[in-house]
Amino acid sequence: GATLGMVGGGQLGRMFAIAAAQMGYRVVVLCDSDDAPAAQVATQIVVGAIDDPDVVKRFAQQCDVITLEFENIPADTIAGCADFAPTYPSADVLRVAQDRWLEKSSLRDLGLPVTPFDQVSDADSVRRFAEHHGYPVIVKTARSGYDGKGQYRVESSQQADDVPWGSADQWIAEQCIRFDKEVSILVARNVHGQTSTFPLFENDHVNHILDQTTCPASVDPAIESSAREIAMAVADGLDLIGLICIEFFLMGDSLMINEIAPRPHNSGHLSIEACGVSQFEQQVRAVCGLPLGNTRLVSGGAAMVNLLGDLWQDGDPAWDRVFGLEDSLAASGIRLHLYGKAGAKVGRKMGHLTAVADDVVAAANAVREARERLRSS
Ligand code: ATP
Ligand code: MG
Ligand code: MG
Repeated sequence: GATLGMVGGGQLGRMFAIAAAQMGYRVVVLCDSDDAPAAQVATQIVVGAIDDPDVVKRFAQQCDVITLEFENIPADTIAGCADFAPTYPSADVLRVAQDRWLEKSSLRDLGLPVTPFDQVSDADSVRRFAEHHGYPVIVKTARSGYDGKGQYRVESSQQADDVPWGSADQWIAEQCIRFDKEVSILVARNVHGQTSTFPLFENDHVNHILDQTTCPASVDPAIESSAREIAMAVADGLDLIGLICIEFFLMGDSLMINEIAPRPHNSGHLSIEACGVSQFEQQVRAVCGLPLGNTRLVSGGAAMVNLLGDLWQDGDPAWDRVFGLEDSLAASGIRLHLYGKAGAKVGRKMGHLTAVADDVVAAANAVREARERLRSS
C-alpha cells in the first residue's frame, strides 16, 4: 500500500516517517499532540487518545498498512487498527512484549536463555526467590516500565519491604546479573517470513538509560553468531512481522536475554549512517512485504551517544540553541539528530549524535568528544 500508518508520535515514529517518506510513502501518524516529534514530519496526523475507538477508526481508515513505535499500546487499539488494515507487529506479539512475565516465560518456552526470574507479589515472595538466586534481586513491575522506571534493587531481606508494592498489580523478580557487557541485536522479519539481523551492538547505560552504542561489538565472533541465531529464533518463534530488538547480558561467553522490544530501538540509531539499510527503512520494508535490505556495516566502526535534556538548562533544543554546535559538527564523520521536542527535562531523550570512522574506538572517541563540545559551551 501507499499509505503507512504509525501509531505513536515519538522519535522512533519520526525517524520511521522520514525513512518512509524517502521511499515515497505517505505516512499518517496517530499521536496525542500536533507538535509531537513524528507529527512534525508526517504527511498527515490524527490527533487524539489512542484508546478512543473513534480516533483509532479515523486513523486506521486512511491506512494501507499500520505499524507502531512503542509496545504498550492497548490491545483494543491494535484490534481496532487490524479491522481496517494489516497491523504489524500483531496483537499477540504485543501481548507478550507488554508483560515481563509472559515475555520471559515465552522466551524460556522457546528454549532460549533468559535471566532467572519469577513472579512475585510481596516481600516474602522476594525472600523466597532470594533463597534460590541470592541477593541482590532486581524487582520490576511486570508492565509499562521503560528507562529503568518501576525497577527496584533489593540488596537484603529487609529491603524487600521497601519496594512500593501498592504501586503496581504485577511484579517479577530477576536475579541480578553481574554482566561483563550489554549487547543488543535487531532482527527484521517480513510478511514472507524472510529474516535479516543487524550487526551486534554494544551498549553502555548510565542511570538505567542507554548512553552509548558502539558497533562492531568487541566480542568473540561466536557470540555474535549466537546472538543472531537467538534473534532469528525469537522472530520465528513469535511469528513476528516487523522489527524486534533483543537486549542481552553477556557474562563470559554466555548470552542471556534481558528483554525484547518489537519496534525500532535506541541502540539501532547508528544504523542510519553505519549500515547498508537503516532500522527504520528495514521496518518499512518488513511491514510492506518488500525484500529486506542489506544490514552490513558500511564503515569500519560506528558509535552513537544520546543527547538527554540535561544538556539544555532552560529551553527548546532547537538547532539554533545547541551551544557549541559548530565545534561539534566540525569533526569529520559526526551526524546530528534532534527530535524536535519542546521542553528539555533531565533524562529525556532529545536527540543523538552518530560518528562513523575507520574503527570503533575512533568512532566512540569522536562521538563522545562531539558531545563534550556541546556540553562545555
Ligand atoms: P528500556 O525498555 O528503556 O531498555 P527497561 O525499563 O525496560 O528499559 P531493563 O532493560 O529491564 O529496563 O533494565 C534497564 C537496565 O537496568 C538494563 O539495561 C541493565 O543495565 C539494568 N538491569 C536490568 N535488569 C537487570 C538484571 N536482572 N541484572 C543486572 N542489571 C539489570
Ligand atoms: Mg524495556
Ligand atoms: Mg531495556
